[in-house]
Amino acid sequence: MDLGISGKKAIVCASSKGLGLGCARALAAEGVDLVMNARGAEALEAAAEDIRRDFGVRVTAVAGDITTEEGRAAVLEAAGEVDILVNNAGGPPPGMWSDWSREDFIKALDANMLAPIAMMQAVLPGMMARHWGRVVNITSQSVKAPIPVLGLSNAARAGLTGFVAGTSRQVAPEGVTINNLLPGIHATDRADALDAGVAKAEGISIEEARKRRQATIPARRYGTIEEFGAACAFLCSQWAGYIVGQNVLLDGGAVNSTM
Ligand code: NAP
Repeated sequence: MDLGISGKKAIVCASSKGLGLGCARALAAEGVDLVMNARGAEALEAAAEDIRRDFGVRVTAVAGDITTEEGRAAVLEAAGEVDILVNNAGGPPPGMWSDWSREDFIKALDANMLAPIAMMQAVLPGMMARHWGRVVNITSQSVKAPIPVLGLSNAARAGLTGFVAGTSRQVAPEGVTINNLLPGIHATDRADALDAGVAKAEGISIEEARKRRQATIPARRYGTIEEFGAACAFLCSQWAGYIVGQNVLLDGGAVNSTM
């Protein structure tokens, strides 16, 4: 299927590795020019160079922290007019509900709620003026089914989800869609770190922790960044114009619910 987005330009935040990289590569495969971002310049430039070589699209790499105003300003300035925005950032650390301070919450809200909202506020007016735009926010399955040790994530992402639910209906008349992709466990550094945490807490190997977690997923495996990226590219396609304000689970069936 031709997704009909060749020649468009996308910002993909937090995209030197993992799910963001999967989205960047899938968009590039469709002929989309990219502005990629991550804090670490070296890994970012390496990922950007791979994409230039593999897909022949224009890629601008902007190193910086997307959860800060300066980081966002640098990305937005480098990008100029954009057609597609993929919001992403690192996830908050696991912990215990009784231990989190106000500062911990503010950090999580900045990264996983306020940063994506600020990026949307920056690009939506231009998309609306040009009558075409796609925004995909990478959130988490925890929006549908809470993960108790990730309470900071549960809280911040719920806030973003509420914002998107209302705002997506306000921008849809201008041909702009906003949707959220909700990853279950995918094979990335983040999943490795969470498995390492479980292994340490339970005195088992990382392989054993991974095996136990895979056994809880109906698909019996972790998702891949390629699968995730393909879903993102579809939501950014010309064919997804009637998908508005949705929360799409990519979790191998892990969230056990009828709808
Ligand atoms: P990952 O493999 O650790 O990759 C994170 C990427 O984001 C890296 O490129 C990292 O590069 C960049 N990044 C992190 N913080 C950043 C910041 N403040 N500013 C700019 N770039 C930043 O993580 P992932 O597994 O792809 O996860 C992506 C998001 O999905 C996270 O919010 C995570 O909580 C969520 N999620 C993941 C899973 C999963 O199973 N993987 C499941 C549910 C939800 P630098 O470190 O160089 O900045």
